[in-house]
Amino acid sequence: MLLRHTPTELSERNALTINPAKTCQPIGAMYAALGIHNCLPHSHGSQGCCAYHRSALTRHYNDPIMATTSSFSEGASVFGGQANLIEAFVNIFSLYNPDVIAVNTTCLSEVIGDDMVQIIKKAYDEKKIPEGKIVIHANTPSFTGSHVTGYANMAAAMVKYFAKKTGRKNGRTTLIPTFIEPSDMSEIKHIAEELGVKYIMYPDVADVVNGPMDGKFHMYPKGGCRKEWIEASGDSDSAIAIGRFGAEPAAKLLDTQCKTPYQNADVPIGITTTDAFVDTLRKAAGVSVPESLRVERGRLVDVLCDMNQYLYGKKVSLMGDPDILISMTQFCRDAGMEVLHVLTGTPSGKMKFAEQIRKICGEKTIVKVGLQMDLFLFHQLILADKPDLIMGNTYCKYICRDLDIPLLRIGFPIYDRIGQSYVPITGYRGGLHLLLKILSIFMDRQDRDAAEENVELIM
Ligand code: SF4
Repeated sequence: MLLRHTPTELSERNALTINPAKTCQPIGAMYAALGIHNCLPHSHGSQGCCAYHRSALTRHYNDPIMATTSSFSEGASVFGGQANLIEAFVNIFSLYNPDVIAVNTTCLSEVIGDDMVQIIKKAYDEKKIPEGKIVIHANTPSFTGSHVTGYANMAAAMVKYFAKKTGRKNGRTTLIPTFIEPSDMSEIKHIAEELGVKYIMYPDVADVVNGPMDGKFHMYPKGGCRKEWIEASGDSDSAIAIGRFGAEPAAKLLDTQCKTPYQNADVPIGITTTDAFVDTLRKAAGVSVPESLRVERGRLVDVLCDMNQYLYGKKVSLMGDPDILISMTQFCRDAGMEVLHVLTGTPSGKMKFAEQIRKICGEKTIVKVGLQMDLFLFHQLILADKPDLIMGNTYCKYICRDLDIPLLRIGFPIYDRIGQSYVPITGYRGGLHLLLKILSIFMDRQDRDAAEENVELIM
């Protein structure tokens, strides 16, 4: 009912965001940190921040997310969080014994101006960090950027703290994925393995936030990239940033720090972007494409051709994270769909998000990007030009319900359905899953809305 008050005419808003199309930086940083084996993410701020970060991830993955907090009170808020953080290191290593603590800052510690490099050095100097244990950190002020920025910052911190160049190349290709699902990370590894590429991948949350139930509690699940491999990425032949927004800062730093050249690739979703990714990886590693990948590709092409009549000309509106949106937009165009709106709350910076989207689908598509982009604006755009399908996170469901538009849940967060962490959308196989989901939505609609005499038994 509340949505009925959304006006259709757009007005300039500079100081008000209503239901932002993003979430806070530390959530992304925490997620990336879980992609290191035996790592405990630590939120340097108040308990409330950490509770929110953990609950957002726990609700999305339906698995308990482990993380600790510096537990700021009034004292830390006034005098700084150094004492809390150093005490936290002592407690965490003695109680939970991780190999790595990955600290992310929060709005409060950033406003205070806690010098993380100095605090961590002091903790090492005072032997508060046991021999062989490591503390890394990323600055993640949430009043700027989004969860994708936080993820990118923590991935870059992994390079900064771990990657070492010994001068002996190890013949590997380093893969740095953006903020995607663990199922999608597994699918990217599957492609690399089918190609016979020797790779190092981090952050890698596969088998961390989607691990199996075996009746036991695992504080540190078996997945995650081992720190030795992150170190070895400094000797890899080359690197690929899979999704510029979430992965390029880490790849760029690897290049600067260890002289490992990198290339950008879009997140492989569907035909065009997976073809491009396979080609980039093939060339980087000097391998050829096996029959098995051609078969996977062929299946996706087959369904796209067979079912084109259900997709062609369908109008879609998308909101979410930029790396996923670029590839999803390409996926929609490959399937003959018309993209009406694309909206993200992650700022574009120099990455020219709007230009990239318009290159894929032309000038007619309305592209909105930046920190102030919100679901209120998305709703207004949709009221003005109603799509056949909305693709976005759980928060879109209110608009969909109000306007009777089906919702394909993609991106983060998804709180009201499960499956995204188990079933990929990347690669040819993931593209097929995605396509089948979209087809079911349109065909179910057709069955529901057709006049009785037009209902088709065989579609
Ligand atoms: S205060 Fe900042 S870091 Fe903490 S939950 Fe809010 S936005 Fe996130």
